[in-house]
Amino acid sequence: MIRRCALVLAAAFLALPAAAQDSYPSRTITMTVPFAAGGPTDTVARLVAEAMGRDLKQTVVIENVGGAGGTLGAARVALAKPDGYAILMHHIGMGTTPTLYRRLSYDPVNGFETVGLVTEVPMTVIARKNIGANTLAELTALMKREGTKINLANAGIGAASHLCGLLWQNAIATQVTTVPYRGTAPAMTDLVGGTVDVMCDQTTNTTEQIKAGSVRAFAVTTKDRLAALPDLPTVHEAGLPGMEVSIWHGIYTPRGTPAAINERLSSALRTALKDPHVVARFAELGTAPVADAMAMPKAHRDYWMADIAKWRPVIQEAGQYAD
Ligand code: ASP
Repeated sequence: MIRRCALVLAAAFLALPAAAQDSYPSRTITMTVPFAAGGPTDTVARLVAEAMGRDLKQTVVIENVGGAGGTLGAARVALAKPDGYAILMHHIGMGTTPTLYRRLSYDPVNGFETVGLVTEVPMTVIARKNIGANTLAELTALMKREGTKINLANAGIGAASHLCGLLWQNAIATQVTTVPYRGTAPAMTDLVGGTVDVMCDQTTNTTEQIKAGSVRAFAVTTKDRLAALPDLPTVHEAGLPGMEVSIWHGIYTPRGTPAAINERLSSALRTALKDPHVVARFAELGTAPVADAMAMPKAHRDYWMADIAKWRPVIQEAGQYAD
């Protein structure tokens, strides 16, 4: 009798993980943003998290863990329990970090499962409004003249603003001084206040500041002009085609998170990306949701691996690593 009871108990215990997955999510999910609140990654994350939460019938709260170019927040999720309650919203930094950083507390590739891509965001080349240049050619001349006296704000090594800054300095063959922040929200505050000179940042952080005239915009880093900022030339038109880059975002879970949970999150993501408020707000900020086929775990992983391979030689050639 005792033995039969033990067998029944063991069977019930073995059945638990599947049952737990069926009822997922049964409590609040934390989405880590590896940059400061109020910045571009945070803006995308908050819009998507709210809409995903509606579909999942649970709250998805945002936790900002900024610093070290996004690696502190990424580490937090890579090392979390793989139960679907710790998820990460990150950007192109997931493609550059594996090459840029030689030492990390987590595995920047094998530490994660993929859920789906979210959006691709253009970047804009901007400066404090009294910079004393009207075109990108004039700004280039000024940067070449002043060199390291120019302060370029970014969100640390591995950030999108860092990558764009590298492309920028390569394109004009000039080195400036970089000033790292925990995200480009605080960097933007200093740019508007005039304590730093230039920045390259996502339209999800810059469109409203450009429209309000609080910063000066010189170019957008995509092939085509933006509907949200139609007067802004592309970097190609403005004479620096080497600066073309756009910033993809994706959602990750810790390695070992069950596939059924990643699929559930992915389906909530696809629903969120069709939410009229998300679509409208993305358009106002110069971006758009990815197609359904890209908001899936496998498509996301393939895209991410291709991006690591794409940036590796560029970073190796620049020879600037974080140790
Ligand atoms: N835009 C920042 C970057 O350069 C990140 C952020 O603050 O969201 O990666």
